[in-house]
Amino acid sequence: MKLDGVLPFARLLLEKAVDQGDIAVDATLGNGHDTVFLAKLVGESGRVFGFDIQEEAIVNTKKRMAEQQISDRVTLFHKGHEYISASIPVECQGKIKGAIFNLGYLPGGDKSIVTVPNTTISAIEQLLEIMAPEGIIVLVVYHGHDEGALERDALLQYVKQLDQKIAHVLQYQFINQKNNPPFIVAIEKR
Ligand code: SAM
Repeated sequence: MKLDGVLPFARLLLEKAVDQGDIAVDATLGNGHDTVFLAKLVGESGRVFGFDIQEEAIVNTKKRMAEQQISDRVTLFHKGHEYISASIPVECQGKIKGAIFNLGYLPGGDKSIVTVPNTTISAIEQLLEIMAPEGIIVLVVYHGHDEGALERDALLQYVKQLDQKIAHVLQYQFINQKNNPPFIVAIEKR
């Protein structure tokens, strides 16, 4: 297939947005795959701030960071992404160029702990305030579980009404695949 799959496309967008020395946010650490990816994009002179409400995600991400020798450029917060503004140092806030949310539950973990609309939308609103212009927020939306379908609906309703003078909003989705495949919502701050 020549078309980019959803996860490669998410990374392509982050590569466009984030350069060496920049600041990036992993809003849902999970097993830390995106944290490592972002940490490589920002390089030694940049910084990644990561959030997750589960201890397991913090432990998994720390392990992966140590393996990849990138721990020095990542700050992890064991708290929800709804505390993004309060947690990221003020001097870093205008410099955030990219952020990723992988919504849903921790793969291999407790499937009852999921991202929810209110806090996801609150985090997006905060990021739109504190990111650099042309910063990109990428959301990978998993909507195959009941709460995921609710979150999808609330998220789409929210992003569709964002003023186009404030942000460009994109949806990237395969529309003929079975079993509710994930899709992307990307928001570029103007
Ligand atoms: N990006 C991850 C990876 O590379 O493995 C996968 C993330 S997983 C799909 C979703 C994660 O979001 C879970 O680890 C869950 O604990 C976390 N989560 C749920 N609510 C959250 C919140 N309010 N703030 C931050 N993380 C949250």
